[in-house]
Amino acid sequence: MAAFQKGFGSYVCAGDWIDGEADGFTVRATVYRDDNADRPDQMSEGFWPSRDPNDAGYTPNYWPEFYRAQEAMRAWQADEWFYCGIAVTVFKDDVCLSTPYEHALWAIEANYPGSDNAYLLEVANDLVEDAIAAAKEKTAELDCDVLAAAIRNCAANMIESMRDAYQAGDAHYADAAVRLIRDQLGYDAEAIFAEARAKTIGHYDIEQPGGCGAARNPLARDFPKRAHGMRLLTPAQAKMDKSRARGFWTFVLHFAPHKLSGFNVCPKASAGCIAACLNLSGRAEMTVGGRVTLAGIKSGRRTNTIHRARLRRTRAFMANRGEFMALLVADIERACDEAGKAGLEACFRLNGTSDIRWERVPCMRGGVVFDNVMSAFPSVMFYDYTKIENRRGLPANYRLTFSLNENNGKAAARLLASGMNVAAVYRTKALALLEAGKPGRVDGDQDDLRFLDPEGVIVALSAKGRLAKRDRSGFVLG
Ligand code: SF4
Repeated sequence: MAAFQKGFGSYVCAGDWIDGEADGFTVRATVYRDDNADRPDQMSEGFWPSRDPNDAGYTPNYWPEFYRAQEAMRAWQADEWFYCGIAVTVFKDDVCLSTPYEHALWAIEANYPGSDNAYLLEVANDLVEDAIAAAKEKTAELDCDVLAAAIRNCAANMIESMRDAYQAGDAHYADAAVRLIRDQLGYDAEAIFAEARAKTIGHYDIEQPGGCGAARNPLARDFPKRAHGMRLLTPAQAKMDKSRARGFWTFVLHFAPHKLSGFNVCPKASAGCIAACLNLSGRAEMTVGGRVTLAGIKSGRRTNTIHRARLRRTRAFMANRGEFMALLVADIERACDEAGKAGLEACFRLNGTSDIRWERVPCMRGGVVFDNVMSAFPSVMFYDYTKIENRRGLPANYRLTFSLNENNGKAAARLLASGMNVAAVYRTKALALLEAGKPGRVDGDQDDLRFLDPEGVIVALSAKGRLAKRDRSGFVLG
């Protein structure tokens, strides 16, 4: 569907957009900077030319190709070109029917030497079909579901929906409901929505005036304080947290994994781990009338508050990095206080359901800029599982365990030999225990404190969640 006729310029900047028309909708394609991309030679296999016919970069014209690659690398380092995402949003009568990154493709080269950016137009046109289909579904949904609720005069339900829509940053969607009901169906729902809006905004305003630094943070209103006064982190529950027996209390940050939010926060995820991800285990898998599914989370129709919160956090991290990190720093301070009061030491897993290079994410604490949160809290322990092989230059208080999946076995063996720990997931508890009993292995189900494991061991974990136990990709062993 060639909705966009006129392409982007031969030189683009983040924020540039083009507009088009398709099927009675207005569509807009916007350029975003992809901050999650690696260096060009880590992004594409065969980037550097090779004389070995078995290598991905094999070429008979070695030197010209070498100079071309060297120039591309220099230009990238000089920010003459960058990796971008193209996101398509759909409008009807000026009402936006898509969330900002719902239909997006990332890790695309913008302003690449010798290119005229024509490929960006191709990507935009490729994304239109899905974006329009989703917009049509949304308008159909508004036609029946919202009207039915209005006719039943369930104001309480409407207020809940409004709060969800606002908390999901989707005020346009709620406004679209008002217009469609009034214009197309002749029912005036404005009064109900006005009440809902007032209550929702009132709910946020409680957090706004005065108070500590985090409360003045514009993001604070989107993340009201929850258990133990935290906005982003989830404290492990006492009865579940086996770490307490060893004097620690774990606090976890959960994002929407892989590309669920429109941003890829798991660059090395495999098909097996995406399908078996912990994101859909325990309470996170339950919703009213059944189970949450990946498609349900994406469409917003079969989901729950846990996933809505994960999506919001992920998008806030990507779109408002400074404010997000300020909230995270405040949460870590609060978690350390809470753990101290309980006679425990706080420790943190920031990649509960993501694989972000936190060592590269700067933050500010007490007016001082730090390279990362670990440097901002040097006496606090951070740890994570990762599938990224080349995370180097880690702070001393950040310990990583490499996570084995169905296609990174060679890397796992290499890293294990170099002294890094490797986590492997086994189908049953009995199998995991059997493995853990062998030399060079530890039982990862005993507790979650991976930074206390000896070096160079395999961490045997049992599969958690229905989907993991059913895995046949090879991600789960046994
Ligand atoms: S990399 Fe980890 S968090 Fe991401 S999809 Fe795979 S298992 Fe889930």
